[in-house]
Amino acid sequence: MQIRNKLTYQFVGIVAGVLLLASMAIYVLFVQFRERDFYLRLNEKAIRTANLLLADNNVDAATLRLIDKNLRGALPQEKVIIFNASAEKIYSTDDDNNFKITETLLEQIRLKKEIRFRQNNFEWLGLLYKFNNKDYIILAAAQDIYGLRKLNFLGISLVAVFIILIMVVYYFGWTFAGRALKPISKVVSEVEGITINNLNARVDVGNGQDEIAQLAKTFNKMLERIEAAFNAQRSFVGNASHELRNPLSIIRGQLEVALLKDRKTDDYKKTLESLLEDINHLTIISNRLLSLAQVSGVGLIDPKNEIRIDDLLLEVRSELITSIPEYTVNISFESELENEDSLLFYGNERLLKIAFFNLVENACKYSPDHSCLVDIGEEEKNIIIRFSDKGVGIPVEDLKNIFEPFYRAKNVLDRKGHGIGLSLVEKIVRLHGGTITVDSREKRGSVFTVKLPVR
Ligand code: ADP
Repeated sequence: MQIRNKLTYQFVGIVAGVLLLASMAIYVLFVQFRERDFYLRLNEKAIRTANLLLADNNVDAATLRLIDKNLRGALPQEKVIIFNASAEKIYSTDDDNNFKITETLLEQIRLKKEIRFRQNNFEWLGLLYKFNNKDYIILAAAQDIYGLRKLNFLGISLVAVFIILIMVVYYFGWTFAGRALKPISKVVSEVEGITINNLNARVDVGNGQDEIAQLAKTFNKMLERIEAAFNAQRSFVGNASHELRNPLSIIRGQLEVALLKDRKTDDYKKTLESLLEDINHLTIISNRLLSLAQVSGVGLIDPKNEIRIDDLLLEVRSELITSIPEYTVNISFESELENEDSLLFYGNERLLKIAFFNLVENACKYSPDHSCLVDIGEEEKNIIIRFSDKGVGIPVEDLKNIFEPFYRAKNVLDRKGHGIGLSLVEKIVRLHGGTITVDSREKRGSVFTVKLPVR
């Protein structure tokens, strides 16, 4: 069911409930009031008639009946019947004797002193009345034509007002719900118009204050993130194919030149060596791209796989020095390290090794002395590893983009590199619940700090 319908029905339901209760209360109160008022008047009539009949200077019954008939009081069709103590009817205005006054009824009145009942559409009041120490029974009856007519009119009016009000409430409920939900419908239709081709479109935030504006703002923020991710993805694919195409065209060029004419064995050997270097280069790029894609996958961390961070760094050092002997890597421990167990970490050894390798390699690659200092320490349940060098540093304007895939600072463009390493490092560290920060000054050196939470 649409929210608009739901709101309208709920609104109508509440109003109908309140109206129904109010109408019923009014009706019941009026029913009671009419009855009380009518019996009060019957009572007055009964006693007045009895007083006139029984007083010392009494009027005789015939005269009284005459007066009663001609001075028909306020009560329509009124009848008064009086019995003396021996149950003899001493007065009656019920000319047609339409009413059955039984012995039992008289007995009941004697017992209860006052009773009310209905007979032939008449409302009756039976009273035990003492006059000069004698018991009389007075029965007074009438038809409350006006009262009942008023009650009837009230009932019909209440029902009519109820129906009309419900229709009015339904109309206004429907209109207001529609008006209140209009901005949502607007947001929905705007959102429907956003596709992959116009991700830069934004939803109108209206007055910028209410909940719907909040929804639109949240949606816009989400769009910003999607757009950024989409653009990053697009430029990643572009950059990746560019990085792969470059060495491939170099290989192709070399092969074409080599095949132009017959050459000496030495020339072929040189070409083949150069080709091997390009293929190695290509392998490194594709391996890093593959790692970058894999790091986004889930289930990479085995929580039971215990790694010693210092051992891992020692392995990284020996591998790097073996492949590039002119590099120097010094590893030092902070004195505050409580015990060796504080260097235990649970994670993916292969990935962490790639990350540390990249950081150490960069430090050596971008510093004239080709050396890197690795400090291992701990700080509030975190293992802290600092990779420092006294190299070329990173220009301030490049610092914020340094972890973007394929981004390279402008001061290193003359050196070999692909700009994939740091983004891979950042992803690996994040995957392990850690953070990486960089502090660098151009021509002074850089410090990359990795913080890994001890598990
Ligand atoms: P690559 O080293 O292949 O260019 P990286 O992703 O490892 O790619 O690094 C990205 C960029 O960050 C580098 O091109 C360089 O500009 C900068 N950088 C990384 N480490 C250092 C460092 N230790 N000293 C100076 N610049 C660095």
